[in-house]
Amino acid sequence: MEELKNLWQTALSEIELQISKPNFVTWFKNSQLLDKRDGAALIGFPNNFAKEWAENKYYKIILGALRNLDGATKKLEFMVCNTNSLPPKISDGKSKKTPVAEQPIFSELKVDPETNLNPRYTLGSFVVGSSNELAYAAIQAIVKEVGKKYNPLFVHGGVGVGKTHLIQAAGNEIKNFYQNKVRVRYVPSEKFTNEVIWAMRNKRMDTIKDKYRGVDVLIIDDIQFIGGKTRTEEEFFHTFNALYENNKQIIISSDRPPRFIPTLEERLRSRFEGGMICDIGYPDYELRVAVLRTKLQEKGSELAPEVVDLVANKVKKNLRELEGVLNRVIFYQQTKGQVVTLKLAEQIINENIQEPIQQNVTPVQVVKVVADFFEVSPNDLSGRCRKKEVVEPRQIAMYLLRDVLDLSFPYIGEKLGKRDHTTAMYAFEKISQDVNKNPALNNKIMLIKEKLTKA
Ligand code: ADP
Ligand code: MG
Repeated sequence: MEELKNLWQTALSEIELQISKPNFVTWFKNSQLLDKRDGAALIGFPNNFAKEWAENKYYKIILGALRNLDGATKKLEFMVCNTNSLPPKISDGKSKKTPVAEQPIFSELKVDPETNLNPRYTLGSFVVGSSNELAYAAIQAIVKEVGKKYNPLFVHGGVGVGKTHLIQAAGNEIKNFYQNKVRVRYVPSEKFTNEVIWAMRNKRMDTIKDKYRGVDVLIIDDIQFIGGKTRTEEEFFHTFNALYENNKQIIISSDRPPRFIPTLEERLRSRFEGGMICDIGYPDYELRVAVLRTKLQEKGSELAPEVVDLVANKVKKNLRELEGVLNRVIFYQQTKGQVVTLKLAEQIINENIQEPIQQNVTPVQVVKVVADFFEVSPNDLSGRCRKKEVVEPRQIAMYLLRDVLDLSFPYIGEKLGKRDHTTAMYAFEKISQDVNKNPALNNKIMLIKEKLTKA
């Protein structure tokens, strides 16, 4: 039974990473893994609504999460099961009573209804490194001088780099520091949009005004989603102005800078650009290791340093994915009761990491994307020029041809100007080492890879 509970716990932490927090809490609260045999897993939900919803919407995600942990799982069965009643079994009737304890993962997820903040995000648990130190410093300044220093603060960065964590932590910090004298409200822009739509439909625009214009700190996450939604932008613009004129603090996050949100109204864009804009880059190696260590500590687990190192080397971009991989390695160690060796860790990681770049990217595309990125021509990359502006892009192209397409060194050398295979090999080794030391380089490579996924 303990095993089922552990398994479900880990599967939940996996599922949690894949769906939004509110959905996760709504649909998976008090769910349980009741039984598992002959490739089927039986999952219980507290009511029919949750059961149906999970069955229809999250079948694949749940199955994927369980299968990652136990390859034998082939299908799922769902049922309604009150946590207080006896958990049934898949086939036989001789179930024993197994009290299901409150799942700890949910106690971490108690969203404060007043502020909409999740207390799990704190500045204390936010690890600072070169990719996020500016954003962190700006947030700290804001906490000290709410509404006076940087207003609005616009934080942008890629998926999983810590935007939500940082801006929610700011909210929690402000709330605790000023002991509730400062009213804070956090809202993802999609939720804001839904509320505006609801208010319009029900002719209750006053609810939006009450809710959002009366706060001292408004934190709005993933603003890129409101771009192009006219009425929402309109409403947000008015809210923004009302708050701004009263020196209320506004903190905004986005996956890109204001000027790259294509459909954002000009007046909103210029408002955002009138404040402080800072970005969070992709985490460098040191930050990834530090985050892994912090998460291990939070979870009260230990892993061999070389395994931590391996995980940090394999997942370079997304701290959410990093945490997911870490969870799986820990799970393995806990259930098998054996220390995860380097070799084993490698196996677990390889089974779990999805290579996001499409396999059908061609070498020519890689060279072109790199050339475009550095604003040189593909011919420069295969040419003989030894200027720095060309040498680094050329080495990066070689690195990516190997890293992404797994091409042979002789082939890569040949493709890029009929060079010797040792040149390609050297370039690959050099860039592989440099990305771990040089955050700017790491950032460039991540951005290029991102472009490749769309190539
Ligand atoms: P984003 O909003 O940019 O997509 P999140 O804030 O959701 O990213 O971060 C993804 C995960 O990584 C979260 O679990 C978060 O706690 C963790 N994380 C991100 N940055 C840090 C950091 N600097 N220190 C500790 N944990 C972090
Ligand atoms: Mg986020």
